[in-house]
Amino acid sequence: MKLRPEILATPPYRQGKPAGDDAFKLSSNENPYPPLPGVIEAVVAAGAFNRYPDASASALRQVLAEKHDVTPDELHIGSGSVALLSQFITAAAGPGDSVVYAWRSFEAYPGLVTVAGAESVQVPNRADGSHNLDAMAAAIDERTRVVIVCTPNNPTSTIVTAADFSDFMAKVPSDVLVLLDEAYAEFVTHPDAVNGLTLTGRYSNLVVLRTFSKAYGLAGLRVGWALGPIAILDAARATAIPLSVTQPAQSAAIASLAVETELLERVSRLAALRDSIRSSMIEQGWTIPDAQGNFVWLATGEETLEANETFLRHGIVARAFAGSGIRISIGEDESVEKLLRASADVVASLP
Ligand code: PMP
Repeated sequence: MKLRPEILATPPYRQGKPAGDDAFKLSSNENPYPPLPGVIEAVVAAGAFNRYPDASASALRQVLAEKHDVTPDELHIGSGSVALLSQFITAAAGPGDSVVYAWRSFEAYPGLVTVAGAESVQVPNRADGSHNLDAMAAAIDERTRVVIVCTPNNPTSTIVTAADFSDFMAKVPSDVLVLLDEAYAEFVTHPDAVNGLTLTGRYSNLVVLRTFSKAYGLAGLRVGWALGPIAILDAARATAIPLSVTQPAQSAAIASLAVETELLERVSRLAALRDSIRSSMIEQGWTIPDAQGNFVWLATGEETLEANETFLRHGIVARAFAGSGIRISIGEDESVEKLLRASADVVASLP
């Protein structure tokens, strides 16, 4: 069988581990709160599962367009923002082209770039885990078709400021597509953080990616959205697998926007919990970058796998990146005591 060698060398996407009965799953940056009743009702009411969904998610785009004061054509819906990432990368980069992004960042990027047939150029983050935008701009050459900026960055939880992003955009050639991956934007409390939704119409090469998976708690239904110039969105639409955003998913997203105030109150509570967990861990002796997503980053370096075993023994399922660090999602209130006991134990065992 003649399969593409670069695909054979690409590991499948690695999912956060499931947790046992008495453990907390803090490994996938999920929202610990279940969907609100109105959202579940909308999923059921979507009914008619013998019918295909609305291929262009027109009702959802209409609601988002009104909310963000753009036209529906400037919006594109995908089955999760990971599908959108794939579409935009595929639309812009192919064999011989490169995609520049920070590393470490979202684990799916390398695989998506390989599938597109392009090459990854990974630019190391600064020591504090934040993007090195100067180095990223310097890494752009004539082969570069896409640059991905992830803010807050998964897994380090650091942000890019609006001022730094503006300086960065000034250095990026206008024919290079910039994907601003803001999967965790709603959790951001830092006043200087960039917010892609405020940049509408400012750049001809910028697409902002958002998702209903995190703040809106719909990870299992798979809905993400992109805001950007129509010509770029049309190219992404051409690469999309047709009909992959299901009707229950579209209806749930619309229903979530209708109860957004309540959902965003939950987000505020999670952000406050994140800050208090981070402060407690710092008191325990950890050094943790300013966390702006619904997760914190422990740079455990060479001790990562051992540290992760300790977390597991304490009933905390986190996401370990061997040789680098551990990412811990902010979960239910009940998880905090266990988590802090575990992190105290781990920090005491580090050299
Ligand atoms: N971008 C980033 C930075 C993420 O961390 C994730 C999910 N882990 C995604 C995109 C994809 O999320 P989804 O496909 O659920 O929208």
